[in-house]
Amino acid sequence: MRASVASSQKLPLIQNSASTWQVQMTNLLSDIDELCDYVGLDVDEVQAIYHLPSKFPLKVPRAFADKMTACINDPLLRQVLPTKSELDTHAGFSLDPLAENAHNPIKGLLHKYQSRVLVTLTGVCAVHCRYCFRQHFDYHANLPTSDDLVKICNYIRQDEQICEVLLSGGDPLNVSNRRLGLWLSALAELPNITTIRLHTRLPVVLPDRVDDELLTMLDNCPKKIVMVLHINHAQEIDAILAKKCQQLRQAGVVLLNQSVLLRGVNDHADTLATLSHRLFECGVLPYYLHMLDKVAGAAHFLVEEEQAITLYWELLSKVAGYLVPKLVRELPHELSKTPVDIYSYQRNF
Ligand SMILES: *Cc1c(COP(=O)(O)O)cnc(C)c1O
Repeated sequence: MRASVASSQKLPLIQNSASTWQVQMTNLLSDIDELCDYVGLDVDEVQAIYHLPSKFPLKVPRAFADKMTACINDPLLRQVLPTKSELDTHAGFSLDPLAENAHNPIKGLLHKYQSRVLVTLTGVCAVHCRYCFRQHFDYHANLPTSDDLVKICNYIRQDEQICEVLLSGGDPLNVSNRRLGLWLSALAELPNITTIRLHTRLPVVLPDRVDDELLTMLDNCPKKIVMVLHINHAQEIDAILAKKCQQLRQAGVVLLNQSVLLRGVNDHADTLATLSHRLFECGVLPYYLHMLDKVAGAAHFLVEEEQAITLYWELLSKVAGYLVPKLVRELPHELSKTPVDIYSYQRNF
């Protein structure tokens, strides 16, 4: 149970906050019985739907499990629990749904859109979200070395149209402050770059990752820093995360959020409205609401287009315009994320 684990977390290893997140990173929940025990779930009930994946195994930080309820339908549990539905094959669900392999000029670099490039800093993430569109991505062949860092910087420098670099992965905050610092300093040297953007879920799933050293580094970076969090449900936002958001904002970081529209997690207008309000309380603006990428193993999360549009209209009617994320999908070989055509269905609520 949580109480006993909380005491076992007080490992003698944890001496200062600087090492806390790295210790937590080595102490993730990866065993189904352990997860059930931690959250207080009925093991038999969970075992009935669980499947043990051969790749992309169960992986959940305790700090994320702390926000779950002891319910099989908990929206946070659902995001991370490998279920038998993953084994079903569905037409149209593939291993590389975004054909990203076609936009990979240098190891570690994706250049799909004119003004911005994306660097996959690491293949590792602290949490395995079952709907992850990069769950089959070949990171092994694609992690940038320090040589690649130089190549990537040269590539960016030679293309005047590029003004923003996205650090992604995996989770870019999964790397050490030292390594992240190397990237930030190298990118800070590039005159055409105005903005560095981090796409990360770590502040949500392992908030201690936002430590003082990171905050100072972000604060001192001469480029504008944008952080896009990835929160799907208001239950993911607790006082600890709210505090981290406040610290990030004090360090001059612009906070945005993207969600994926997921069946059984956030496929109701009220759920999305509550999420938007809660984000705003923490100084985070909703940015994107993504349609699910059709990645093999994730079909059970699909919200069909008609339902998505219907609930989007309903969301529009409930919250201020600035609390409505853009409803988009990502299509291979397009010049940007593609807005979903919400006029293709009438408002019918
Ligand atoms: C999503 C994405 C971006 C950023 O797109 P924005 O619309 O600016 O958020 C950039 N590069 C790649 C490869 C992406 O997938």
